[in-house]
Amino acid sequence: MQELNLLANDNRGQSQLEAGFDLMGWDEVTQGSVLPSFEGDATGIANKKAEERSYSGFNSYTATVASWRVQKPVFNRDICIDCQNCWVWCPDSSILSRDKQMLGIDYDHCKGCEVCVEVCPTNPKSLLMFNEHSDLEESLASWPEKKKKEKKSKEA
Ligand code: SF4
Ligand code: SF4
Repeated sequence: MQELNLLANDNRGQSQLEAGFDLMGWDEVTQGSVLPSFEGDATGIANKKAEERSYSGFNSYTATVASWRVQKPVFNRDICIDCQNCWVWCPDSSILSRDKQMLGIDYDHCKGCEVCVEVCPTNPKSLLMFNEHSDLEESLASWPEKKKKEKKSKEA
């Protein structure tokens, strides 16, 4: 896992979203209940960074879906051009970016859908899918070389 301590607060990804764990189902919640996303006063929360917010236990930020993945995206900092395509397209807000700089993957919430890999424009891609249990250093060491463009034939 690419550790990003700057984004890790106390309750990020602490509970498991999967069968067998003590989670209340949507059909067990009393109608009209209010489930606050944040602890305490949430004034100005939109302007706070994730690590500065106090997420409540009802917020999916405090749960992890890491066990759902079969494959995971691995990020190669050396090739990335910080275009932010992956950040824009990730359906689970699992690309970590600060000041338009790609930092890595939030593996607590990434579901391994591969969209980020698809939209990455570099050659070779700066994000590639690897087995969930693959080692980061080994994955980076096996990164493909830049693909050369095929020469166009002079004859039309
Ligand atoms: S694999 Fe899917 S969920 Fe995970 S970071 Fe990429 S786009 Fe987001
Ligand atoms: S899409 Fe690729 S090049 Fe662009 S920020 Fe993401 S990893 Fe970097």
